[in-house]
Amino acid sequence: MSDDQPRRDQLAAGLGEVRARIAAACADAGREPAEVTLIVVTKYFPASDVLLLHDLGVRDFGENRDQEAGEKFAEVRAALGDGPDGVVLHFIGQLQTNKAGHVAAYADVVQSVDRPRLVSALDRGAHLANRRLDVLLQVDLDTSPQDAAGGAGRGGVRPEQVGELADAVAVRDLLRLRGVMAVAPLGADPDAAFARLREVADGIRRRHPGADWMSAGMSGDLEAAVRHGATHLRVGTAILGSRPSLL
Ligand SMILES: *Cc1c(COP(=O)(O)O)cnc(C)c1O
Repeated sequence: MSDDQPRRDQLAAGLGEVRARIAAACADAGREPAEVTLIVVTKYFPASDVLLLHDLGVRDFGENRDQEAGEKFAEVRAALGDGPDGVVLHFIGQLQTNKAGHVAAYADVVQSVDRPRLVSALDRGAHLANRRLDVLLQVDLDTSPQDAAGGAGRGGVRPEQVGELADAVAVRDLLRLRGVMAVAPLGADPDAAFARLREVADGIRRRHPGADWMSAGMSGDLEAAVRHGATHLRVGTAILGSRPSLL
């Protein structure tokens, strides 16, 4: 038994619980679990956890900070080598324009695109790195008046502006528009938030038929996300445990 067996057991147990929750939520919603991709959010946790999760069958991972993600996944990819069994890295954090080129060099999906300048920067980065990127538009679902005015929230484009941003992504040859992403606003009813996201997602899909992903739902609200048609869930804490508060 190797030294990391206890951690492996912990991760396997967390993963098992989350997969059971997804299966139950799908059964309630009359959906197939195969329609839902579980992205395990490994921010703040080491590359060794990513490798254990990969060994447990996880292929999709989420990270939210450029430097941490770049270093960790360079290590992960070096350990795994080239091959069909690699990881898919989803960048899910707020992204500064000056970091976009770097992220474009290693991420497979950028889920947090929320403004035209970021679209140009990612497209430039994709050309420099000679890679294709899948893109989701992060939608701001906050309906409280102070946040709409102040923009102190977690980022995201207002629902009224999603269509225009979608068109800006769709004309870029190395960016592929895949759909929308959102975080339920703090304190809000996730069912109401994800119902709204679903409307936005349907609107985008009518204009861009290939953009059929809806990334929603985290440890605390994945059932609501499944009920409203999420195709991708982003789950950290329920699998890896509490994140260290400082890093
Ligand atoms: C951290 C994070 C998650 C995972 O949240 P948990 O509550 O730990 O499951 C999901 N989405 C985004 C955008 C995140 O930053």
